[in-house]
Amino acid sequence: MASFFVIAYLLSKRNKDGGTSSAPVSDSLSEAKIKTLHPKVRDKAREFLNKAEKQGIKLRIVSAYRTYAEQDALYAKGRTKAGSIVTKAKAGQSSHNFGTAIDVAPLENGKLNWKGDWKKIASIGKSVGFEWGGDWKSFKDQPHFQMNFGNSLAELRSRYESGKKENGYVILT
Ligand SMILES: [Zn+2]
Repeated sequence: MASFFVIAYLLSKRNKDGGTSSAPVSDSLSEAKIKTLHPKVRDKAREFLNKAEKQGIKLRIVSAYRTYAEQDALYAKGRTKAGSIVTKAKAGQSSHNFGTAIDVAPLENGKLNWKGDWKKIASIGKSVGFEWGGDWKSFKDQPHFQMNFGNSLAELRSRYESGKKENGYVILT
């Protein structure tokens, strides 16, 4: 009898989130990006994408973890390199450099729609705990979502640069 209740409990627990909240996401490119994120953020990113998909929005993660070198290359765009400016962050000044940020866009008929329903996407992202770049005052970044667990970028940077890392990722407190 006891095991019946255990099974019933497990089933009810699974049904609450459909059993998919932190399951791998359906888009394999996004899942590959998720695997580069800080371990503490991976399941949150999955939860975000799975929740959005349930609400009819299939998101693709177009950017996740970025090395310092990759960040500097991005910063050069529109400044010392061709193109338009896409970031105000140099190496170590972006949550992407610590694996705690993702850039997403809705995938519609196989194409990214940069003019998606950002309000709805933001509300889903925030509901799982992400901070939204669209709320920023100086440089609105609608595709950007980050989760730094109350740590400032300066804290993450100094901790990371002084070697307070685990498996290559900054230790989040
Ligand atoms: Zn971003």
